[in-house]
Amino acid sequence: LSTRGNHHTVPRIGIMGGTFDPIHNGHLVAASEVAWVYDLDEVMFVPTGRPVFKLDKTVTNAEDRYLMTVIATASNPQFTVSRVDIDRPGVTYTIDTLRDIHRARPEAELFFITGADAIAEIMRWKDADEMWSLAHFVAVSRPGYSSDLKSLDIPARAVDTLEIPALAISSTDVRRRSEDGEPVWYLVPDGVVQYISKHGLYR
Ligand code: ATP
Ligand code: MG
Repeated sequence: LSTRGNHHTVPRIGIMGGTFDPIHNGHLVAASEVAWVYDLDEVMFVPTGRPVFKLDKTVTNAEDRYLMTVIATASNPQFTVSRVDIDRPGVTYTIDTLRDIHRARPEAELFFITGADAIAEIMRWKDADEMWSLAHFVAVSRPGYSSDLKSLDIPARAVDTLEIPALAISSTDVRRRSEDGEPVWYLVPDGVVQYISKHGLYR
């Protein structure tokens, strides 16, 4: 799948889906590294609406998560943020994300980026077979998780695994640290530290 240095005529778009509650440097490094290795023209960050795997948890409202994602990605000319998931009513399913982006950008080749933990959930995603036809999947390494694709029932061609610089950062830990008054500087971009404190999130 990697064609760095080759010329491609079709635009190559990465899709980085996530709850982004809040977005952190682990997400940004994953997107940047996949963009480099796969020679992507753009990485679209797509904050989820109601994430299907987090229905039992409270999630920060979508506009705050969206704005933090915009703040975190604004300085990178290759990074964009899409509202497709937060504007679609109901629970977010990745197949709907892919269908919407494919409809908006039918000419593009799509690369869905997940961490090693999220790829394991793929088999529980709705309409998995159609997903493989809409996008390539790139599973990036994440500290604390192994991505043993063989143990999952995933077609080998459909998913690539990629080793990326390890950042042991999670949004759960950033929320916990904020709640306990511990610093989150350098775990999330400066503008996100300031957004969290300005809006009193995670208190
Ligand atoms: P939470 O702890 O709330 O689940 P999270 O840190 O896992 O938050 P998500 O928004 O759930 O962040 O993740 C979005 C995507 O980014 C997922 O595919 C996840 O696997 C990936 N990801 C998150 N953190 C990292 C990291 N540190 N390294 C690599 N991939 C990551
Ligand atoms: Mg997660």
